[in-house]
Amino acid sequence: MNNINRCVNTISKLSSNKVAIITGSSKGIGKSIALRFARSKEYSALVINARRLKEAEQVVEETKKSAECDSVAIVGDVSKESDCIRLIEETVTKFQRIDVLVNNAGIQKDNPLTETTLQDWYNIISVDLTGPFVCSRESVKQMKTQTDPVGGCIINISSVHQIIPKPHYVPYATSKGGIDMMTKTMALELAADKIRVNIVAPGAIDTDMNMSLRTGALELEENLKKIPIGRIGKAQEIADVVDFLTSSKASYITGSTFVVDGGMTLYPSFGLDHSHSSDHLFPKDSSR
Ligand code: NAP
Repeated sequence: MNNINRCVNTISKLSSNKVAIITGSSKGIGKSIALRFARSKEYSALVINARRLKEAEQVVEETKKSAECDSVAIVGDVSKESDCIRLIEETVTKFQRIDVLVNNAGIQKDNPLTETTLQDWYNIISVDLTGPFVCSRESVKQMKTQTDPVGGCIINISSVHQIIPKPHYVPYATSKGGIDMMTKTMALELAADKIRVNIVAPGAIDTDMNMSLRTGALELEENLKKIPIGRIGKAQEIADVVDFLTSSKASYITGSTFVVDGGMTLYPSFGLDHSHSSDHLFPKDSSR
């Protein structure tokens, strides 16, 4: 197919011409979101971001296979303000607009509080909270100037740990809690500009971040006790919700958190457990 035919073909297949940036989209949840967006045929261009170029370029190729949108890899570390600014600037230079920003890149570290150094704290906060702040701030400068359509949409990928405390993960849980208030505040400030800001908060999802669930049978078993639906989630199940929230079907939703966790935040330990009869619940001499 020559370039002109390819272009005509692309335009005829697209139902919309949106441009999206997905941070941390070389693998895991971010990659699934990119592939979901490509399949939706709503996007004329996708920006795949990560620190490593090779994996990001592989995702670019995959998105091009599932739809002929104009994907590009832009390498950048979202913990650095200058990289975030460059990511947004390069996107605008190349595609002239930003309709959707998904702040997905995130890291965590298992560390007791007393062994968490200030550097650990800064490392995690700067990827998980400061990165979304800077990327949002820079994208909003562009979104506010856009017409046809006006405005835009920001999705912050948080975690059930914006709600559930997580021992040994103080900087991570603090970042995700911060994302909650950052999202609500931005949503209120930007509603008049037709910029919607929402959160998708995953539970335990099968990605490299959760490698131990793939390798450790005991850890998997312990985790499944916390998930009423009885299984680990798939990255595509997060991507489907992100796709909905960025679509016109969600045009009246802003400042909300969509928890996608198989029921983890339903406090499963309060669920019915038929293995206990009431006789076993209290010591024999206790008065009720
Ligand atoms: P993952 O499989 O570890 O993938 C992380 C992605 O982010 C990779 O593409 C990685 O590529 C990129 N990345 C990491 N640090 C970055 C940085 N400083 N700048 C730019 N890109 C960076 O993680 P995931 O499980 O998909 O998690 C994605 C998001 O979901 C995170 O915000 C996480 O907190 C959240 N979440 C995940 C789970 C879960 O169970 N998996 C649960 C709750 C919430 P490079 O290494 O090349 O940069």
